[in-house]
Amino acid sequence: MPELKRLAINQATTRTQWSLRQAIEGYARHGVKGIAVWRDKLAECGVAEAAGMLNDHAMTVTGLCRGGMFPAADGPGIQAALDDNRRAIDDAAAIGAQCLVLVVGGLPKISRDIAGARAMVRDGIAAILPHARGANMPLAIEPLHPMYAADRACVNTMAQANDLCDELGDGLGIAVDVYHLWWDPDLEKQIARAGKKRILGFHICDWLVPTRDMLLDRGMMGDGVIDIARIRGWVEDAGYDGYHEVEIFSQENWWKRDPDEVVGTCIERHRTVC
Ligand code: ZN
Repeated sequence: MPELKRLAINQATTRTQWSLRQAIEGYARHGVKGIAVWRDKLAECGVAEAAGMLNDHAMTVTGLCRGGMFPAADGPGIQAALDDNRRAIDDAAAIGAQCLVLVVGGLPKISRDIAGARAMVRDGIAAILPHARGANMPLAIEPLHPMYAADRACVNTMAQANDLCDELGDGLGIAVDVYHLWWDPDLEKQIARAGKKRILGFHICDWLVPTRDMLLDRGMMGDGVIDIARIRGWVEDAGYDGYHEVEIFSQENWWKRDPDEVVGTCIERHRTVC
């Protein structure tokens, strides 16, 4: 049974209800000690103010969401993505985040070349890694479910992410999100391959049947079909001892509820089904 001290909440889980300040105060009020921060929310209050609030509440920042989106149709587009990623690295360092989460991007506009997009991702990560290493900020590739390969991330399995880590070396790891990876028959093996050093985050929610929206209909842990406790066992067998980060995008359900109820339910389900 996981302990409350291992629970973190990604602020996307209460994104429609709470600002960053409200999320930090709200999570802390419930005894949650970890938060993943989104850049748009961070921009609303500014990095310095955010760093102060996080410090005041002794919050661990499990990650900054998000960098990535490397593929682009032309040189200026690629350069803009690299510049934006370097700014994200600096912001992540300024708020003491444990990693910058990379949603790597899908196909450039009007392209059918997914192999080419994947090469752009590799080259983009390689280009920003020196800056990340200089800032002592680990980059966490988050493989996304293949339904997002065209528009969000063309890295879709742990095996692909592990291959990128093998190729590009230190400073690069992986965020393991059960929503994106639960279906993969190689998951246990690839989590073991990643090991303690590479696993930079563990994200939890549930896969609802039916899923009504590709992006905004994630379920609360226990409401769907993912054996979260089993996958947690695999990441812990690999040596991971970090936070379990609840990340729920839920336009028609959890984003419409009282945020204190949402946080309370996260705590309860974390304890009982994760
Ligand atoms: Zn995630």
